Amino acid sequence: MNKLLRVAIPSPLRRLFDYLPPCDSETSTESVTLDSNHAYSTNSGIGRRVKVPFGRRELIGVVLDEVTETDVPRNKLKPINEFIDEEPLLPSYMLEFVLWAADYYQHPVGDAVLHALPALLRKGSSTDSVHHYVWQITPHANIEQLAKNASKLRNSFQIIADHPAGISREAFRAEGGDSQALKALFNKGLISEQLQESTPPISNPLKEAPLTLNPEQALVVQHLQNAPHFSPILLDGITGSGKTEVYLQAITNVLNAGQQALVLVPEIGLTPQTVQRFKQRFNVPIRILHSNLTDKQRLEAWLDARDGRAKIIIGTRSAIFTPLLNPGIIIIDEEHDGSFKQQEGFRYSARDLSVVRAHAENIPVILGSATPSLETLHNCQSGRYRHFTLRQRAGNAIAPEFKLLDIRGARLHNGLSEVLIEHIKAHIEQGTQVLVFINRRGFAPSLSCHDCGWIAECRRCDARMTLHYNPAHLHCHHCDSQRPIPARCDQCGSDAIKPQGAGTERTEQTLQSLFPNTSVLRIDRDSTSRKGSLDKLMEQVHSGEPCILVGTQMLAKGHHFPRVTLVAILDADGGLFSTDFRGMERTAQLITQVAGRAGRADHPGTVFLQTLHADHPLLTNLALAGYEAFAAAELTLRKQYQLAPFRFIAIVRAESQKPGTAESFLQSLREAIAPSFGGIDWQGPFPSPMEKKAGVFRSQLLLSCPSRIHLQNCLSHLCLVSDEHPSHSKVRWSVDVDPYDL
Ligand code: ADP
Ligand code: ZN
Ligand code: ZN
Repeated sequence: MNKLLRVAIPSPLRRLFDYLPPCDSETSTESVTLDSNHAYSTNSGIGRRVKVPFGRRELIGVVLDEVTETDVPRNKLKPINEFIDEEPLLPSYMLEFVLWAADYYQHPVGDAVLHALPALLRKGSSTDSVHHYVWQITPHANIEQLAKNASKLRNSFQIIADHPAGISREAFRAEGGDSQALKALFNKGLISEQLQESTPPISNPLKEAPLTLNPEQALVVQHLQNAPHFSPILLDGITGSGKTEVYLQAITNVLNAGQQALVLVPEIGLTPQTVQRFKQRFNVPIRILHSNLTDKQRLEAWLDARDGRAKIIIGTRSAIFTPLLNPGIIIIDEEHDGSFKQQEGFRYSARDLSVVRAHAENIPVILGSATPSLETLHNCQSGRYRHFTLRQRAGNAIAPEFKLLDIRGARLHNGLSEVLIEHIKAHIEQGTQVLVFINRRGFAPSLSCHDCGWIAECRRCDARMTLHYNPAHLHCHHCDSQRPIPARCDQCGSDAIKPQGAGTERTEQTLQSLFPNTSVLRIDRDSTSRKGSLDKLMEQVHSGEPCILVGTQMLAKGHHFPRVTLVAILDADGGLFSTDFRGMERTAQLITQVAGRAGRADHPGTVFLQTLHADHPLLTNLALAGYEAFAAAELTLRKQYQLAPFRFIAIVRAESQKPGTAESFLQSLREAIAPSFGGIDWQGPFPSPMEKKAGVFRSQLLLSCPSRIHLQNCLSHLCLVSDEHPSHSKVRWSVDVDPYDL
């Protein structure tokens, strides 16, 4: 009998679809095979994209299997319309990896498989649509042939010079190159276009000499060299302790073995400085997968990785699905960062998947952080991961000193205590810089009436509107709705309406009036939304002049501020009483990360934590003994209360237009399933922490269990029941396995 094709199709249905081979193909789906070095050499249809009839539409899917048996009656089977690819698009291990992830995260398989592809491939573009010409510097061309003030030309020249094996037009544009400049450089004879070599020969991957590692660093690199197979490692070291140098040297060994490296960084961490470190060190093609790429640039980078032309791939979360021809190592920098977890649709953790992938490919994986997640620390304690610590600051800086500032009963100036203001003054007078951290943008978190107590609330969410003056409006940070600032109270008509509390704008204003002769720089999403504005602010900071930086968690990542000697955390209590059991962990990470931005050997830093709970054991522990001690204590508590990572957790969320519908949907799921799954702890359904958001009512059900498998089985069953549920069209529901936010 004819072989049938089992196809993954982007659909919410949790199943695959069977089709006959295309009508015009006599025999089979067999096609050209790739050469025998390719891991995905196969002579079947598996891994190729197809166009298939689906209802009245034509959809694009990926063949996952060839079978001879099907549940579909013969006369209902339709042939596929055509194959898009002649060869498998993905190596088979990548398909297996995505299928594993779909299964683990309870996500519809077709949607997951297509999610793993660049948008153009999802839409059916051919892989030949990218052209294979690259630009290179002509022999003897030199940047000094360009005028000193021709910055566009110089910048474009440098981008090409950074890619000795050549750079395509798309990649050049992706790195900020200018098309006009490209033409001009060509006309001057400084660059030329060549056909790209499939795998450019690289004699020496190093552009600059590596640093001499200190003994702690050397131990890690040595370990990886001795064990170039699956071995997950936690690289635990404060900012500036030399983690990046370890990555660079581990990658050097990988490149010398002819392999590729995949580096994942948090969304906000993909800064030009990070990328620059890699480019400065290596002579090899590096591709960056950031969120501002065009579809074409993304496809090209993906193909360069898959076909082995790119040697180092640096990207955010979704880069975990980039296939590599010859994988050698995966590195997750700032592994504790929440942005590795996708919070919508396919809710995977790129950090956790990196370990799964490294296992499947039998290569090392490094998880690096100054503030490792409790999950990862737990994995070290249980022996699954090796724990390496870098205790010295390689760049010779010393860790800052923490001080708790008890503000009970203290007079505050818009959130700033007088003691703190005195300290800020002293540091400015001694000529250094100050960083004030407040994790709230806008002028004030709420606007309220002094006469009747009315508070401006979002009409679509159970949330207060944040007051912004710059530009002036009320803004809901949860659903993005905006409206003008009212002149009078909505409820009683009084004009005594006043901002309550302080956000970055107000703190900036207050500090500016207290220190009129010092520049106060605000760094948050609003002040940096225009292109280039962050760079400008950073330039000012790095000029070294005394200044006060006010900002949100944007300050906690990527940047280092060696002239900052005082860090003030205005509200250290945020996570103490959070309903989310990870609240305190996150606060501790944030505080430690912000603190780690400051100081160097000749300017040691001090960190002040303003708190109303100066005797809270978690805070005192963090302040006096540091993150490591905090994490150890917190892990003990988690164990005692049987929370993650000591139990496996999943959340089922539901939302609906009408109040109550989502909750009763979840209630009926629980009633239908709980009796047949003993050993699972059910909590809820409860209203979500913000029940109404963007106009819909949300509810959630929390499941936990000491057995991963048992929980997985229960969730699979739950998904089946939900799909068939009579009211499933009235609610939107989703399952979040290992949720990051409760
Ligand atoms: P991290 O990634 O942990 O923040 P980095 O690798 O960026 O740390 O190192 C911090 C600074 O110390 C950098 O300027 C780096 O060049 C320098 N550095 C790192 N390792 C060494 C070393 N072994 N010897 C000298 N300087 C080092
Ligand atoms: Zn009022
Ligand atoms: Zn809202």
